[in-house]
Amino acid sequence: MKLYDTKRRKIVEIIAQTPGVLKIYACGPTVYRDAHVGNMRTFLLTDLIKRLAQYQGLKVELIQNITDVGHMADDAGLGGVDEGQADTEDRILVQAGKESIDALTIARKYEESFHKDLALLNIQPATQYPRASESIELMIELIAKLIAKNHAYVSQDGSVLFDAKSFPTYGQISGNKLDELKPGYRFVGKEDSNKKFHADWALWKKSSESRTQLTWQTPWGVGYPGWHIECSAMSLKFLGNKIDIHTGGIDLRFPHHEDERAQSNAASETEVVNHWIHGEHLLFEGRKMSKSSGNVLLVSDVVQKNLDPLAIRLSLMEHRYRSQMDLTWNSINASHKTLNRLREKMQIWSNKEGKIDENYLKQFESALDEDLDTNKGLQILRTLEKDESVSEGNKYQTILKFDEILGLNLTATPENKKEITLTKEIETLLAQRVIARNEKNWQKSDEIRDQLAQLGVGVKDSNNGQEVTPL
Ligand code: AMP
Ligand code: ZN
Repeated sequence: MKLYDTKRRKIVEIIAQTPGVLKIYACGPTVYRDAHVGNMRTFLLTDLIKRLAQYQGLKVELIQNITDVGHMADDAGLGGVDEGQADTEDRILVQAGKESIDALTIARKYEESFHKDLALLNIQPATQYPRASESIELMIELIAKLIAKNHAYVSQDGSVLFDAKSFPTYGQISGNKLDELKPGYRFVGKEDSNKKFHADWALWKKSSESRTQLTWQTPWGVGYPGWHIECSAMSLKFLGNKIDIHTGGIDLRFPHHEDERAQSNAASETEVVNHWIHGEHLLFEGRKMSKSSGNVLLVSDVVQKNLDPLAIRLSLMEHRYRSQMDLTWNSINASHKTLNRLREKMQIWSNKEGKIDENYLKQFESALDEDLDTNKGLQILRTLEKDESVSEGNKYQTILKFDEILGLNLTATPENKKEITLTKEIETLLAQRVIARNEKNWQKSDEIRDQLAQLGVGVKDSNNGQEVTPL
């Protein structure tokens, strides 16, 4: 397959360095809130690469980390020791304060939602999901190695900083040159007496006495890790120093991936990641999707409207990963209808004899192969759907093959043919939801609705009470 390589600035052929095995590292979620559909777009990019590689006969080793410490409220993460950020501004700690629960309980809660959302979007699980908070030893070892190799130093306040100037090829991913990163540059931080050079960043940060959670004892005192070192430590540990592909959203290109590359390469004395692949951002109804701007769409919002969550997957694939896209309710509704139309046809066609139409399959494969052109792939699917010269049995077999990559469950039962069998579990949940609503416990009632959705049951609230619909 070919993909756009951010560092090489061109579309390149991806060749697995370990024969038969493609090694992918994907930056995972920061588990202080539910992942929004923008985050899911980036996770879907990794899933499409994984599915395509498997389709082409490769085994995929995919590691996706769970960031449960060290990602600060500021988007850039831990750039330095003096960015005007109190160390309590760790995203997990801020949320723990808001919900009055301890930090790791918050993290586990949102980690669980992340896995549920992945499943609803048919995103295949990674090989492993290492947690940052459980990889501290790895980070300490890596930091010690960087100090020993003179790439890092302990600052006056007991933090450990990476010596940016010690890594001459810094900036190759983003194009940012060290000597152009002036003090005060948004991502770098202000002049800081602890730093030898203003662009140095913290690998480990000494914590203040007021920080009582998410701290660890190290040879340099009590503190907590920087966000960037987490990904270096976990990727090197689980995938080694020959990683084929590293994915993430475009915002991670700098400083997160730039700093990660410097750390991993400096420690390993080799170019660890072969291809850096970035997905463009998702807008929602014309505006940037972010928690801070209040413009957020969650997978559960779509489920709540009794729409198939795979309508999100289909809408996202209408655009290639590399172009910014605007998701709207109109497009999600349209995708929901398209899914049902296709499933109805597939159900009818499934009874006919047929074989794969090699011409259509070839067109589809080359669209995906050529930098994941999912938009073109879907156009080919639509043309095939309408092509009267292809038999229905052949359409069925060919689309079934497309769906190995598309992941749209096109053989699922269409909406109008679905029936619900009210099991004991479903009935109990429905009864519990009535009680929750009577008590005006909206959070509980929403949680139960999500549990029902997992069981394929949608609920609508009307004057007659709860009405159930199949999902
Ligand atoms: P976070 O949970 O904030 O660490 O982000 C998880 C992933 O989502 C990262 O790879 C981000 O680059 C990506 N991301 C964040 N916002 C968006 C967006 N609006 N569209 C696409 N990807 C995003
Ligand atoms: Zn990362």
